[in-house]
Amino acid sequence: MSTPTSDGKMDLDVGNVEQAVSTGALPGWDDVESHVGAAYERYRSHQAGVVADYIPALAEADPEAFGITVAEVNGELHPAGTASAVFSIQSIAKAFVYALVCEALGHDGVRDRVGVNNTGLAFNSVIAIELNDGHPMNPMVNAGAMATTAMIPGATAAEQWEQIRSGLSRFAGRQLELDGGVYRSEMLTNQRNRAIAALLESYGRIHIDPLEVVDVYTRQCSLLVDSRDLAVMGATLADGGVNPLTQQRVVSAGVCRDTLSVLAATGMYERSGEWLFEIGLPAKSGVAGGIVAVAPGKGAIGTYSPRLDSAGNSVRGQRATAYLSRTLGLNLFASNAYSEQGSDQQ
Ligand code: GLU
Repeated sequence: MSTPTSDGKMDLDVGNVEQAVSTGALPGWDDVESHVGAAYERYRSHQAGVVADYIPALAEADPEAFGITVAEVNGELHPAGTASAVFSIQSIAKAFVYALVCEALGHDGVRDRVGVNNTGLAFNSVIAIELNDGHPMNPMVNAGAMATTAMIPGATAAEQWEQIRSGLSRFAGRQLELDGGVYRSEMLTNQRNRAIAALLESYGRIHIDPLEVVDVYTRQCSLLVDSRDLAVMGATLADGGVNPLTQQRVVSAGVCRDTLSVLAATGMYERSGEWLFEIGLPAKSGVAGGIVAVAPGKGAIGTYSPRLDSAGNSVRGQRATAYLSRTLGLNLFASNAYSEQGSDQQ
């Protein structure tokens, strides 16, 4: 039985018992290919949702762009639509920066400073900070993400930014570039993020210049990716931390496990519970229209379509991921009765 300790954290008393892994496999290459193509055809004409415009440069996105890529842990890629259309990674960077910080500081070092629970409030909520005595609860929304960015090793903001850019590039398997237009546009309009960083400083949660933290955070959000990059980055988390294209180890298997569990609870803004209920995969979305969903041991789905629902999640991206989760058998909570094994395994 787990009992809460005096600091409110669970004491599970499992010691150093070795963590076994049990996942499964994707269907064969042809099946994955045809399901990805079917997902694209099924949703390509869907028009629901609106392109984000609170960062002016995001409003320039082509609302029709729609790309899907499935990356397998063996390095096979299955693209469909405008799979190589580029967009700014936005909040999806939070997942990978969190992984880099966990790799650098360790599970407990990060856990003590940033929580792992959903705030249930909007991604740029100030109330969520106040309600928790200044302790950022969720590393996948702005307060927790800026606190996480501030923990990236580096003597200067420039060094921290280089750590983030090179680290996210290792996840993608190629050098990622900054979209200077998106970065400048957000820096002119991010008063709220500056307020959040100042509030975190006032609570002693960040110990470096809050404006520098906002600058590095805004840069990480402005890195350009396409659906293929998202799929490869996600597949690295699905592959115990080894990039399936470069075969380079980016983070440890334990860091992948920690990061994916945080994504499962918090990755889809206030709809995270509903997402897990319907799709059954850890995922992260960003306001430019990207979504990455990760199937541990199997691979990842990267999607891009800039029309968003009211929580900030891409409408076509959610639908395509839901379709692929079902047709590829990815939902982590799905099982068939033992007595029915050998029948359809979805
Ligand atoms: N750069 C955006 C912001 O801080 C990221 C938002 C998001 O993708 O959720 O407002």
